[in-house]
Amino acid sequence: MRIPCDILIAGGGVAGLSAACLFASAGFETVCVDPIPPITDGATAGADLRSTAFLLPSVDLLSDSGLWSVLSPHAAPLSTMRILDAGGEAGSVREQADFIADDLGLPAFGYNLPNTLLREKMLAFLRKFANFQLLAPETVGKMTPRSAGALVQLKGGNQISAKLVIAADGRNSPLREQLGITVKTWHYGQKAIVFNTSHTKPHQNISTEIHRSGGPFTLVPLEDPYKSAIVWMERGPRAATLFAMDDTDFNAALSERSCGTLGAIEIIGKRALWPIISQRAERLNGPRTALLAEAAHVIPPIGAQGLNMSLADLKTLRDLVIEARNQSQDIGGAELLQKYHRMRWPDMAARIKGVDLLNRASMADSAAFKDLRRTGLKYLHGIKPLRNALMKRGLGAK
Ligand SMILES: Cc1cc2nc3c(=O)[nH]c(=O)nc-3n(C[C@H](O)[C@H](O)[C@H](O)COP(=O)(O)OP(=O)(O)OC[C@H]3O[C@@H](n4cnc5c(N)ncnc54)[C@H](O)[C@@H]3O)c2cc1C
Repeated sequence: MRIPCDILIAGGGVAGLSAACLFASAGFETVCVDPIPPITDGATAGADLRSTAFLLPSVDLLSDSGLWSVLSPHAAPLSTMRILDAGGEAGSVREQADFIADDLGLPAFGYNLPNTLLREKMLAFLRKFANFQLLAPETVGKMTPRSAGALVQLKGGNQISAKLVIAADGRNSPLREQLGITVKTWHYGQKAIVFNTSHTKPHQNISTEIHRSGGPFTLVPLEDPYKSAIVWMERGPRAATLFAMDDTDFNAALSERSCGTLGAIEIIGKRALWPIISQRAERLNGPRTALLAEAAHVIPPIGAQGLNMSLADLKTLRDLVIEARNQSQDIGGAELLQKYHRMRWPDMAARIKGVDLLNRASMADSAAFKDLRRTGLKYLHGIKPLRNALMKRGLGAK
């Protein structure tokens, strides 16, 4: 069977589903394909235990489609971003810098939600659209670009003809490989342990990043004031040791690494281990295809830039596609896709570089470098215009 559509999205991760919500709600015939049906329960094997902090430009984008009103009741506002330096001998907090949304006249920098809940709410939102189909389990195979559209073979035997194909098929993107688009990858020998916690002190909507060595330890508020999502980055061997610990030993290590910020703290449920890399595709476009999200860029989870960068890609692509439709032009044409690449690549490359530097600074082992990091933090935070400029840049301003 051949299924015709306007837009085929390869990948039903959070980025692919976000794209589906935006394009389906804008009236495009949209099909999303994923080998694994989206997992919406954190207790199921293979569940994505991460959470996503949506920064304000992303909230605006999701509001446009009506999706944000479904998500917002479950979101924890992040009203303060706190950076702590605990890089001294004692391992206790020796420098604190608070970046406060109210200083910019904003209610919050962003809003945090668990990724499983995002999948659940996005799927429920998409069920309302007769112009949307999810094919899962199903896998995108060979794509043949043609002058009027792309013909895509599905592993299950069916074919899809689409005017535009969006590769949201993750960091090892098979579509990107097929198109011969190369990537540049940076390795850090570092992993992130991801899990949820309960704690005795309320988080007060403060997102806290604690720097010592090995990488940042970040506590991100969840909807319940006594629960937070944690991303704990360490060098590979230390991360593997922590990951293998039983809950009692792990909780002891967790209390020590969190510097008592939220009182007594305990893991809830499972942990997941993520290898940390930076990766940049050398092009964001191929014939009939746009690369989106981790297919295009991967960065260490610092400053909530990952999916937010993907949503900036998505906004650019959506605007170009709607403009083309309004002018009765080809929504998957070479010129449009070239423009998408030109509009997104420089910002993407600059953010990858910025996050790479922050990560390397956070991994530092030498006492001299850690002291330099502390001085840098004090200096950047101490000068109000610089502080405000940094906050705006972190929020997605150019
Ligand atoms: C520890 C950690 C914490 C993070 N925290 C944040 C945060 O707070 N804020 C933020 O903005 N970002 C964050 N990020 C980044 C963010 O999670 C990702 O950018 C985001 O999940 C987007 O991933 P994706 O959808 O591109 O890829 P994936 O989630 O990997 O999805 C790709 C999908 O493609 C499917 N697929 C693969 N092959 C095929 C095929 N042939 N056909 C069809 N489908 C296919 C896969 O099954 C998968 O479902 C974090 C990342 C990490 C590692």
